[in-house]
Amino acid sequence: MTTPFAIGIEPRAAIPVAGGSSVFPVRRVYCIGRNYAAHAREMGGDPTREAPFFFQKAADTLQFCPENETVKHPYPSMTSNYHHEVEMVVALKSGARDIAEKDALSHVFGYAVGLDMTRRDLQDEAKASRRPWEVGKSADFSAPIGPIHPVSSVGHPARGKISVSVDSEPRQSSDLSDMVWSVSEQISILSRYFELKAGDIIFTGTPEGVGKVERGQTMRAYVEGLGAISLLVE
Ligand code: MN
Repeated sequence: MTTPFAIGIEPRAAIPVAGGSSVFPVRRVYCIGRNYAAHAREMGGDPTREAPFFFQKAADTLQFCPENETVKHPYPSMTSNYHHEVEMVVALKSGARDIAEKDALSHVFGYAVGLDMTRRDLQDEAKASRRPWEVGKSADFSAPIGPIHPVSSVGHPARGKISVSVDSEPRQSSDLSDMVWSVSEQISILSRYFELKAGDIIFTGTPEGVGKVERGQTMRAYVEGLGAISLLVE
């Protein structure tokens, strides 16, 4: 006999798959810290790279944004410095511990465009007082995301424009090839810290140009090949 749940269950976060009728059920949301060089790296790697670092957002902070639609995005409480960070998002169909770099992409289901929305004032306070980042990074609705494009249709994007505009004014603009740590490297390194599993997603870091967004403004985040999402902050 199954023991009944003592309270009602919140539905699991799930993101629609582009061009299909299925949804991708989300387990955990990982994010990588600063992951774009201000200038293109020379071929062959940069020996001065600092080790990547990771944090999590709660899975229920995801806000799905259908393409060709402007979604209303609530301005969060307790901040007066709310920032956009446009990022490519990786969705895993499987996982493991200690994944080798050469095997990493075989775990990827697909990719999406996302925003790692940040209460920058609270994050800055946390940094200054050596406290955790949750209140800065894991606000309700702080992880807008577009539909997930399967590898079968978009491959593994390694170059292409990544950008965000606010009220049509360009804010961040870079190229996926400017990532310091590749998607393979991120998956491999992250899997040393956590056993990765199907349903995990990874926000892969943001390029230079993060900035403030205010109520009444519209953000448009774009990754080449993965489309755009549009959000009205209110
Ligand atoms: Mn970020």
